[in-house]
Amino acid sequence: MKILIVEDSRANLLVLTQYVERYGATAIPAENGENAVATFSRERPDLVLLDVILPDIDGFEVARRIRGLENPGDWTPIIFLSALGKDEDIEKGISAGGDDYLHKPVSEIVLDAKIRAMQRLIQMRTSLVVLARKLDVANQELKRLSASDGLTGIANRRFFDEYISREWRRGRRNASGIALMMCDVDHFKLFNDTYGHQAGDDCLRRVAGAIAANLERAADIAARYGGEEFVVVLPETSLGGALMVAEKIRHAVHALNIPHSASSFGRVTLSIGIASAVPELDNPCDELILAADRALYHAKHTGRDRVCRADKIPAA
Ligand code: GH3
Ligand code: MG
Ligand code: MG
Ligand code: MG
Repeated sequence: MKILIVEDSRANLLVLTQYVERYGATAIPAENGENAVATFSRERPDLVLLDVILPDIDGFEVARRIRGLENPGDWTPIIFLSALGKDEDIEKGISAGGDDYLHKPVSEIVLDAKIRAMQRLIQMRTSLVVLARKLDVANQELKRLSASDGLTGIANRRFFDEYISREWRRGRRNASGIALMMCDVDHFKLFNDTYGHQAGDDCLRRVAGAIAANLERAADIAARYGGEEFVVVLPETSLGGALMVAEKIRHAVHALNIPHSASSFGRVTLSIGIASAVPELDNPCDELILAADRALYHAKHTGRDRVCRADKIPAA
């Protein structure tokens, strides 16, 4: 433990240094206010014993400057030592940022006890800081978990809902288009019936991985919309751009080559509906989701394993 002793009287400094060293701490002396502030800044002691009356700036000012030097959230105990013993002096010392006030001459026993008390506070504070850090990490993990789908690890429906409304508002400000892609695994009920639910889960994980792996821009996200349905948001993307991404994803799922004997394709395939829109005032994103859904429905009813775009479908 390093203790900065600010004291202009040589004799007092000597005595205090002895006390501090007998306590088992390292004493760092400073004989005036300016020197004290500079020494504090350089040495970063664990505690400060601060005389009030000094030849240059007074101890109260030194305390204020020391508080100004501390990093946010840091705390170094400051104990004032003074022959001034009026109630107002004590109040002034605490107001200036001090933590305790001792009358001179200071007895070794009292000084020891006060240092010990401050050490106890430092320790408690350190454990609180460590705890707060752990809490912060746990909160971040909780946030991540609450946004991701437990089975596939990609974003969940909740995250999607928030993301699309945020991007929708951004699109409105920038007058930029958003494309949306609804993906649904073909004949998935039959897949489960044939290979079992466990294999079904594995299949969903792999399909989710293939979808996510084919998104290139940082703002593109894939989420599990529910069951065997996935949704992809492509901000600032035209329908043409979305079509390319959708075809890439459809091929990627093909390339997974997951056997599906009950499907006419012989493997797991994906049907995709895409839609795009430029967000306008008083125009909610539900319309875009509905349009992509209608396009997906169209893909299902025209044979599956294909991509359909909303603008090719007559509005319902
Ligand atoms: P279509 O080609 O028309 O989409 O037919 P489908 O069989 O894929 O569609 P349907 O909606 O009839 O069936 C979806 C199936 O997905 C039924 C359900 O049991 C299954 N499913 C939904 N969520 C999960 C899941 O988390 N794990 C597994 N293994 N199966 C799931
Ligand atoms: Mg003095
Ligand atoms: Mg479905
Ligand atoms: Mg399906």
